[in-house]
Amino acid sequence: MSLNALIAKIADLIFPSARCLGCDEPRDLEEGACLCAECREELESLRTLDKVCPNCQSPIKKGHPCAYCLNGGMEGLDRAYAAFLYHGLAQKLVIALKFGPIEKAAEPLSREMALQISGVRFDALVPVPLYQINERERGMNQSRVLANQISELTGIPVLEAVKKIRRTKRQSSLGAKDRKENVKGAFECALNVSGMELLLIDDVRTTGSTARECAKQLRIKGAKSVCLLSATVAGHGEKHEP
Ligand SMILES: [Zn+2]
Ligand SMILES: [Zn+2]
Repeated sequence: MSLNALIAKIADLIFPSARCLGCDEPRDLEEGACLCAECREELESLRTLDKVCPNCQSPIKKGHPCAYCLNGGMEGLDRAYAAFLYHGLAQKLVIALKFGPIEKAAEPLSREMALQISGVRFDALVPVPLYQINERERGMNQSRVLANQISELTGIPVLEAVKKIRRTKRQSSLGAKDRKENVKGAFECALNVSGMELLLIDDVRTTGSTARECAKQLRIKGAKSVCLLSATVAGHGEKHEP
């Protein structure tokens, strides 16, 4: 048995397929679905529809300017899209992308992510990379799994244009300022992306330092525009857990 198959088997023991991935209860699930009707409803309620900044979809209080945009969160990014608030079930699915049945957990996220960009033109989806050794340890890069599923839904090709060239500390263990330093020079774009309109894909956006650093490298190699689509966006005071 390959390591991946073994991991899938263990994941299936922890999250058995007849159980809902959201509430962990045995439920009647529709063919191929991982969430029960109630959990699907909960996830719907976390969509970034209103009370978010139109430029970056960060949660904002009515009548207040967007703190994320004001603090330079969009530096080097033309636009940021996010499907869900990093909260409740959406947060649980993002954690399951790292430690659970990745393809299943990605499915409800990527479906909403594809909807977020419907009608917008992009030449390629660029997954935010993991450092090669970390990816080998984990078996898969969650951003690539999301990108592959979004590609299937939208027809936009995946282009692995960015590589991570050194190990970094875990971003969630650092404050905003240190996060920026931590990822500085950690990425490299090995391809010529001249004139391309690109969409970075990630699972969670907190300060956005990682995406900004990737965007910088893509622009050096000639990208015409770089946007970011994350499955979730962390709001006020929510820490990016794992
Ligand atoms: Zn459920
Ligand atoms: Zn904003």
